Amino acid sequence: MTKSSILGYPRIGDNREWKKALEAFWAGKIEESEFQSRMQDIRLNHLRKLQEKGIELIPVNDFSYYDHVLDTAAMFGIVPKRFPYDGGPVPLSVYYGIARGTTDAAASEMTKWFNTNYHYIVPELDGAEPAVTENKPLAAYREAKERLGIEGKPVILGPLTFLKLSKGYDESETDAWLERLVPLYAQILRELALEGAEWVQIDEPILVTGLSDADIRRLHSIYGTFAAEAPTLNIMLQTYFEAVESYSDIVSLPVKGIGLDFVHGYAGNIRLIQASGFPQDKVLGAGVVDGRGIWKASLREKAALLEKLQSFVPADRIIVQSSCSLLHVPVTVSSETKLLPELKGALAFADEKLDELVLLTKAVSSGTDAIGKELDECDLAIRALERSKERNRNDVQQAVAAISKQDAKRSLPFAERHAVQQKKWQLPVLPTTTIGSFPQSVEVRKARQLWRKGEWSGEQYAGFIREQIDTWIGLQEEIGLDVLVHGEFERTDMVEFFGEKLAGFAFTQYGWVQSYGSRCVKPPIIFGDVAFEKPMTVEETQYAQSKTSRPVKGMLTGPITIMNWSFVREDISREQIAYQLAYALRQEVEALEKAGIGMIQVDEPAVREGLPLKEKDQAEYLAWAVKAFRLTTCTVQDTTQIHTHMCYCEFHDMIDSISAMDADVISIETSRSHGELIHSFEENTYGLGIGLGVYDIHSPRVPGVEEMTGMIDRALRVLDPKLFWINPDCGLKTRGMEETVASLRNMVEATKIAREKY
Ligand code: GLN
Ligand code: ZN
Repeated sequence: MTKSSILGYPRIGDNREWKKALEAFWAGKIEESEFQSRMQDIRLNHLRKLQEKGIELIPVNDFSYYDHVLDTAAMFGIVPKRFPYDGGPVPLSVYYGIARGTTDAAASEMTKWFNTNYHYIVPELDGAEPAVTENKPLAAYREAKERLGIEGKPVILGPLTFLKLSKGYDESETDAWLERLVPLYAQILRELALEGAEWVQIDEPILVTGLSDADIRRLHSIYGTFAAEAPTLNIMLQTYFEAVESYSDIVSLPVKGIGLDFVHGYAGNIRLIQASGFPQDKVLGAGVVDGRGIWKASLREKAALLEKLQSFVPADRIIVQSSCSLLHVPVTVSSETKLLPELKGALAFADEKLDELVLLTKAVSSGTDAIGKELDECDLAIRALERSKERNRNDVQQAVAAISKQDAKRSLPFAERHAVQQKKWQLPVLPTTTIGSFPQSVEVRKARQLWRKGEWSGEQYAGFIREQIDTWIGLQEEIGLDVLVHGEFERTDMVEFFGEKLAGFAFTQYGWVQSYGSRCVKPPIIFGDVAFEKPMTVEETQYAQSKTSRPVKGMLTGPITIMNWSFVREDISREQIAYQLAYALRQEVEALEKAGIGMIQVDEPAVREGLPLKEKDQAEYLAWAVKAFRLTTCTVQDTTQIHTHMCYCEFHDMIDSISAMDADVISIETSRSHGELIHSFEENTYGLGIGLGVYDIHSPRVPGVEEMTGMIDRALRVLDPKLFWINPDCGLKTRGMEETVASLRNMVEATKIAREKY
């Protein structure tokens, strides 16, 4: 029989109960026993919901107390040496210590989970002596069975992916590490088999990235061992986020099922199946419902896809499932009360996707007629949004088509622009500036709340913002910075602020998704054509400029960052969405320039986040991402200085693209790169203005003058002092006022010392 399944369900609870429990526990407000019982309630509620909706193969062990990669490390006792631990189940204090740091030991690194906005904790293998400390999948399996009579499908992060995501070992030790880990995995699986588990889902998303011959050999050996050690267990080898590489090797592994993503890897996976077929002895996990998008699936198209798949795999060997874990989408559309009906009708979050899966499974077993009514309703809902006026702005579509055909280029090349800009701005060598935001104090947040609740009038709030600007313009002048900023006090979030002012965006009330740990984000939805309506930042910037004779830098979020931190429509390409955003933001750039602002920063911290997983697709993405930035910034006068900012990321492979953005000045975060960033500049040349952050803004610590002169000297060993800027790593909104002022004073002092030398 065809079955329905998902690969994982959001952990955070219908009303973020999970986050609240975690934070209460961390703050010492609830005991561990209370915390455990709240966690169990959330977990069981999820399972009950899946059961009631009619999902047949229900995942267990997808739940986590923080992150599933950290769980895997903890299950094997892989705890960095700086934490107090000597074997056995990892106590919660140590578990959260690794995730968040303690007073004695730094947290483990956190990084993006493939190309999503979920972040996992990077396991540190050095010095670890792995052993099974507890069989968490087994505990989850038992709990579901005993409490709810559910025959669960334990979800486990597979050994190859786990190892590839870990650090603290040399590549040459990969096999040695697998020799230690695979027997531990085998023990987990044996115990599950003994308990009577039928299915287990082993996630190996690494299989969608390019694998070496050695990796393929490793796969055969790993899954060969599992088959021998737990022969009765049906293993679903699960991949997602892209089409698999090395298809023929993967489908020949001795596992019962192969899970493929037919949404994000649709074209590739379909081609592979059509060209090579699907093995007769295996089950296909058909990921047809998008696990990370928020849109209703076209049931008609998905039913047709499932029918197509049946020419390669008989229906009784198909499991209809989500393309990946539903971790990446909000819980339910049903609680939203403020969305446009055409939009709301076209959305499907986690719970609505469960319904889709159940319906599609029904279509496979009983034919599409069995869901005829739902098919029609679904078509209508999708069409209603398609026809909405928000999606059909001819003015925007035509303008964007026209500008995206043009060559987005400043009228002079950088060297010549640089000369006229120097002449106009007369900045000293090694100019000092900041990244944009200043501390968002309790006061600032309170003022915003009062205004949002209607207790303060718009004018009252604007007056308060002006006072903040006054204070900080005064401080910046007194500290002696060269290029000032207004401080971004009116902004909560760098995407939401613009989204609320541009056409084409919508905001949910409860659409939270986990970003990392207890941190959840509520991404805006770009559902219509994006359009500039009226100036968004001119008032505050112009006000700040009126208070000083030094240049004030305008501050915008770039098109790619806005796009990558939003959920986006799928009826047009991401490239087109980026150009629409670029066109809208260009109008803001022009408005700022017209208002007398001669330096404009367009932040693009999230460019790397959109990088496709497959290397062969990356150049194309980078090309249009760069073009979007250039479209945003290319129409200004030669004397207008365009800045950009990126938070730390690996730059070595991106320097060409960053140069191609052609910003007059880029500021980049350096402290978390441990010198690697400067190393990248040794090997590559970068010939535009650049500021490598000279101090870490993530901690309240005030860096000393000498420390910063050290940073400056190090950078100037490889970079041209004539093009170098002095700035902190990133925005200062999370810092306190006192430490900010003290740090910036030291930064200016360090600059004075450096200026003597260069
Ligand atoms: N201008 C923004 C700020 O200073 C940049 C933030 C970021 O890079 N994430 O807050
Ligand atoms: Zn930053």
